[in-house]
Amino acid sequence: MVMGEFTQETDVLVIGGGPGGYAAAFRAADLGLDVTMVDVGGRLGGVCLFRGCIPSKTLLHVSELLYDARHADEMGITFGDPRVELARLRQWKNQVIERLANGLVELSKKRGVQVLKGCAVFESSERARLQSLETGHIKFRHAIIATGSTATPLPAMEFKRGGRIMSSGGALALADVPERLLVVGGGYVGVELGSVYASLGSRVTMVEWQDRLMSGADQDLVQPLAARLKGLFKAIHNRTRVKEFQEFDDRVEVVLEGEVDEPKQTFDRILIAIGRNPNSRDIGLENTKVSVDNRGFVIVDEQRRTTDARIFAVGDVAGGVMLAHKAMHEGKVAAEVIAGLPSAFDFQAIPAVVFTDPQIAWCGLTEEEARKQNRAVRVSRFPWSASGRAVSMGVTKGMTKMIIDTETDRVLGVGIVGRGAGEMIAEGVVTVEMGALAEDLALSMHPHPTLSESEEEAAEAFLGSSTHILPLRKT
Ligand code: FAD
Repeated sequence: MVMGEFTQETDVLVIGGGPGGYAAAFRAADLGLDVTMVDVGGRLGGVCLFRGCIPSKTLLHVSELLYDARHADEMGITFGDPRVELARLRQWKNQVIERLANGLVELSKKRGVQVLKGCAVFESSERARLQSLETGHIKFRHAIIATGSTATPLPAMEFKRGGRIMSSGGALALADVPERLLVVGGGYVGVELGSVYASLGSRVTMVEWQDRLMSGADQDLVQPLAARLKGLFKAIHNRTRVKEFQEFDDRVEVVLEGEVDEPKQTFDRILIAIGRNPNSRDIGLENTKVSVDNRGFVIVDEQRRTTDARIFAVGDVAGGVMLAHKAMHEGKVAAEVIAGLPSAFDFQAIPAVVFTDPQIAWCGLTEEEARKQNRAVRVSRFPWSASGRAVSMGVTKGMTKMIIDTETDRVLGVGIVGRGAGEMIAEGVVTVEMGALAEDLALSMHPHPTLSESEEEAAEAFLGSSTHILPLRKT
């Protein structure tokens, strides 16, 4: 051993302190295992806490406040034009992050999880090197790879710190509010962050290579959001991509290709939100038996075990739905399997939420998937214009729908668009996971007046017993 080097042993080495990693570490510690966590930044939270879910939702909440303030005069309340103090907004966002990050430090301390700062690289199937101020080696009985993912740049491009071409992480730093912002990518990250900047005052142009925004979601759910964004953004160009770009000190010039009248345009900043790549390179996987697929995602089985028996992988690096709640559940599964419990990742309904205004949320089977799979389903919709709560809140453009098996009446999927959809979808998740029938929902009394009643009424509409919309069929 060289001076300044250390070697230690642990039951479970968790590489990466994001939601997948810390959920795994905490569960493993709760199950009595000795756990060491390593993260490049030395802090727990990962992309989700520092550059993803939490800062974006903090700013989206502010966007919603701004929208409400601007539209309250319809209800007889006038605030005047809201004034945004960017430094204080940034401070608020950072305080939110700090508070949650400190909470994770406390939780790891109280559980006895050792957290080390540094970059971990596998040396073999039982040893990793830790590159930090001191070089160390960690001998492990099991390891969990939870190294997450990184924003995909455009071809021939790199994200430069402080540059005008930003990843989502750069956009969330909120350096300024650019007058002209180009958002490349109409997935959830693009529409969420585009909405934030538009509500803060940027003129936002969005380009999306596909023929529609949010291509994974049913289009009747996307439509109310697309209509809102049409008013909020300067332009949305589908079937359009960035062909060329040149970054200058004070602007970025781009050439667009596709359904756009003016191909040459100039922007103050560009946000690239075209997807994410797994962080599986440069972590020494070649020194183990771990395999990756052709896109670099670590291949795992339902217990989240890789092709190397001692090593597990969870979260974005293991592919599938790249969301924090999926990462956390996988982390728990891996920890439980290592502790000898009969655990597996077996979910019927992984919820997805777009936290724009209106929000879109769905889980289980979508209508489009049902159609592609030729499933015998009926789709029951409840428009929020018939909800007393929605009318009282002025959010009548929402809709709740259920995808129901016509033979068994089982609810296979739920989709919601409207205020608070992200909270309401949890009921849909329980419904689908429990294998509930439309009748189970219809006979569960929902409080009045709430938006959640729309879930009961969508089920009732299927049965022909909805109070607030006319029956589709007589029972
Ligand atoms: P990550 O959170 O990416 O964490 C990985 C950690 O590993 C990082 O801290 C990294 O520094 C560390 N690391 C990497 N390599 C090494 C190494 N060799 N050694 C040591 N440490 C290493 N998901 C939701 O569910 N809801 C949302 O609202 C949502 N919003 C999002 C908004 C944005 C803008 C973005 C970008 C993502 C959002 N996500 C959201 C996705 C969510 O952030 C990810 O799915 C989640 O963070 C994945 O967790 P993870 O544990 O797999 O990895």
